[in-house]
Amino acid sequence: MQTKNAIGIMGGTFDPIHVGHLVIAETVRESLGLAEILFIPSNNPPHKDNLKITDASRRFEMVKLAVEDNPYFRASDIEISREGVTYTIDTLALLAGEYRNDRKYVYIIGADTVWDLVNWYKFDEVFGMCGFAAVQRQGYDLSRLKKRIGILERKYSADITYVEAPSVDISSTEIRARIESGKSIKYMVPDKVVKYIYENKLYLSKIEKLG
Ligand code: ATP
Ligand code: MG
Repeated sequence: MQTKNAIGIMGGTFDPIHVGHLVIAETVRESLGLAEILFIPSNNPPHKDNLKITDASRRFEMVKLAVEDNPYFRASDIEISREGVTYTIDTLALLAGEYRNDRKYVYIIGADTVWDLVNWYKFDEVFGMCGFAAVQRQGYDLSRLKKRIGILERKYSADITYVEAPSVDISSTEIRARIESGKSIKYMVPDKVVKYIYENKLYLSKIEKLG
């Protein structure tokens, strides 16, 4: 795929956004010559068991704070402004309409998402609408990752470019756990986001929140 000047998409729950997301976005942008990267937080699913996910407006605020000093990064509310479950295929269709041209899209994903792609709604159609840039993630063997990419390319005509990026062993799950147990998250999350988390008392256990 011709990636020069394509638009990058970083989709995720971003609960919260952390330096792992930012490092892979910047590395892929530079490596593939992308014009800009849209950070698109996912909507809150309407299921009861997903009540644990932080409100979309707060996740979006944190994304905005995290990307505001990078001229190539932009926070997009294209998913959280829609009702209910939002699918990537609809987001891509909306973006194509918004830009009213033949801009190409490169969806940036970590290794765990490479395995999850086949669970995406109408994933084979999604493969026809955008290319993917996949990066390593802790716990995922590089040769297995490349093999998996090869399978998706042959079986579904997916277009997935492996991009070498610094390995950052951080997850939002770990950040939430650290906050709940009173540990520091400094340097794992941008300073402004750290401040927002503390000011809004995010990720504390219910007991602490009441107290
Ligand atoms: P959680 O632990 O809540 O699942 P997360 O850290 O995995 O959070 P997500 O919002 O689920 O973050 O991830 C969005 C995208 O960023 C996914 O494609 C994921 O693979 C990728 N990603 C997140 N963290 C990293 C990381 N440290 N290295 C590489 N890719 C990452
Ligand atoms: Mg995840």
